[in-house]
Amino acid sequence: MVYYSLNNPQLTAPFREAVIQGIAPDKGLYVPEKISALPVAFFEEIENMTHQEIAFNAINQFVKEDIPDVALHDILKKVLDFDFPVVPVEEHVGTLELFHGPTMAFKDVGARFMANCLGYFSENNNEEVTVLVATSGDTGGAVANGFLGVEGVRVVILYPSGKVSDIQEKQLTTLGQNITALEVDGTFDDCQKMVKTAFLDAEITQTKKLTSANSINVARWLPQLFYFLFAYKEAKSKGDIVFSVPSGNFGNVCAGMVAQKLGMPVKHFIASTNVNDVVPKFMNKGEYQPQPSVATISNAMDVGDPSNFVRIRHLYQNDFERLQANLSSYAFNDEETKQAMERLHRQFNYIADPHGAVGYLGLKKYQEQHPYSYGIFLETAHPVKFLDVVEDTLGVKPEIPPQIQKVMDKQKQSFKINSYVELKSFLLVN
Ligand SMILES: *Cc1c(COP(=O)(O)O)cnc(C)c1O
Repeated sequence: MVYYSLNNPQLTAPFREAVIQGIAPDKGLYVPEKISALPVAFFEEIENMTHQEIAFNAINQFVKEDIPDVALHDILKKVLDFDFPVVPVEEHVGTLELFHGPTMAFKDVGARFMANCLGYFSENNNEEVTVLVATSGDTGGAVANGFLGVEGVRVVILYPSGKVSDIQEKQLTTLGQNITALEVDGTFDDCQKMVKTAFLDAEITQTKKLTSANSINVARWLPQLFYFLFAYKEAKSKGDIVFSVPSGNFGNVCAGMVAQKLGMPVKHFIASTNVNDVVPKFMNKGEYQPQPSVATISNAMDVGDPSNFVRIRHLYQNDFERLQANLSSYAFNDEETKQAMERLHRQFNYIADPHGAVGYLGLKKYQEQHPYSYGIFLETAHPVKFLDVVEDTLGVKPEIPPQIQKVMDKQKQSFKINSYVELKSFLLVN
């Protein structure tokens, strides 16, 4: 598959290059040159297929010149070794739980897939790749875990000191091997700024191959389409399906739209956000106006200029009316989110994390007008990952699952840095 830059369709790269570069040299996002629908029989018979078979059929066209079938099967087997259940919540509503992976966040699949692709590419190549990421919490843990022990790849994670939860910090700082955590005396924005500066610093890029591991990277973005197919497999008998996706950078919901382009029957998408409502406003008025991000209890979605939204507009060839027919977007504040968490717990005995609760709210809002659909909201993180909010709101202590307990008992290891100069010398020397 050829990918091209959204800034310039003439600027193309094969999958392998697109993954190693992360972003096109002109800073445009890469998109696949074309998306071919799967045979109708694939969707008719999907319930007879394993997750690995479904994923293989769905992703093969995007990677096949660069990853042979056998290697792709191998990668998918490693990536998809946990469950993705659709749990019934109330009539016409289920939740797709995406938190059963090693770090209990939905980013596990994308991070592992990208890590295994880079690992495969480095097998015949002795040049080391450095994955440089800034995290406000969830991304770092999933990336660290996904890349742990992958040969030819080292990972450097920057996080703001004192501003991630204990669980998140342990997930970043206790792995060792090819993973290094840099604890920055500053905010998440400071971390992100340093990372961006490094990508533009010729002294570094001349000697080190740097790439990013956020959903800008096609190898992290595309595998998220598996979730929607897995949910479809489980829920297809329930009628017209609508998906509500708690959204920050809009990579996940955009991947769902790719699944739809592959031919998956879906009635509508809902992108649910917290008060960072650039997209809900856009869907109302057709004007895209980035804003500084605002801190909320669903902090993995505190994004003021969602990076993947250009990919969504591109999928609809910038046809606003067609996009509106397929996507609704609603924003909710923290008070509403907590009320939804309470309602889910009290009425339906379901403990949702704040992100899932935002997804639930968007779904209910859509279903007010469209009561006959079967709605699935995506639960993107396990409630223990947002323990304080869950305990304060619901007055219950969710049980700490074993994969979290395991890291809580380990020793933190990090290097403190407080300036770009320190980051640079770390990257050049190590
Ligand atoms: C990253 C994240 C999101 C947002 O996903 P996008 O693809 O950026 O829209 C939602 N919930 C959780 C828990 C996340 O970590």
